Amino acid sequence: MSTTDFSGVDTALANEPLDCLAVAPHPDDAELCCGGLLAALSARGYRVGILDLSRGELASQGTVEQRAGEAEVAAELLGLVHRDNLGLPDGGIDGRDAEQLRLLVSALRALRPELVLAPYERARHPDHEQAAELTRRAVFNAGLRRYEAAQLPAFRPRALLHYEMRVELTAPSFVVDISAHAETKRAAIEAHASQIRADPGAAVATAGGQRVGTLVSSSSTLGLVDARDRRYGAMIGAAHGEPYWSREVLAVDDPLALFRATPGPAALFPGGR
Ligand SMILES: [Zn+2]
Repeated sequence: MSTTDFSGVDTALANEPLDCLAVAPHPDDAELCCGGLLAALSARGYRVGILDLSRGELASQGTVEQRAGEAEVAAELLGLVHRDNLGLPDGGIDGRDAEQLRLLVSALRALRPELVLAPYERARHPDHEQAAELTRRAVFNAGLRRYEAAQLPAFRPRALLHYEMRVELTAPSFVVDISAHAETKRAAIEAHASQIRADPGAAVATAGGQRVGTLVSSSSTLGLVDARDRRYGAMIGAAHGEPYWSREVLAVDDPLALFRATPGPAALFPGGR
């Protein structure tokens, strides 16, 4: 697995373009929200990577060094060929910041991913919403010949898909069957031990007597992720699924071939209506 420190902006082109790059605000978000798809694509032989935007230095638990080590372990488990950290400020990801945009465009032009995954545009954490906006603009600007970024040639990814975080997708464009990769996803999430460890001193921070914390710092994280994946899986007749949303309408060439390849809930309830 190769890594590049983009905080200094690496201007070298990657040897081979990536097939898929997940952009994640913090070092565990990709595992939690699109880890199943990343594992599935890796298993099919695609070149898959994660670009974490920040090092997660504001997290209640774990040091930046611990988190980087955990991210590396998770990357190995998911079969990634690449993982980087853009080094943007945790808590300060800004979709309208010109310098952050230029850094992300540089990374996209260097890694040349065909498919980009990013958070859904509506989220609980401001960093997650800003990451969605920043990625959408970066995917567009990366393709503009006259937009200058690290002297790299223009490159436009083929598609941008958004993954669900805390706020449900209003209408998923599709659900991917990740049943065969649910265990790998779970292991990759568990690799972030500093974030899911039951640590009453840090995890159960309270504000006005109310529990606060992120999804990952909750002791029931794995159960919540499993419940979400099972719910979306049930919608397509699979044990586990992950939903994705595309701003653009997706074209289908042959509806019959599509439906034959994905039998849907009828397979789960044979004879049912
Ligand atoms: Zn996050």
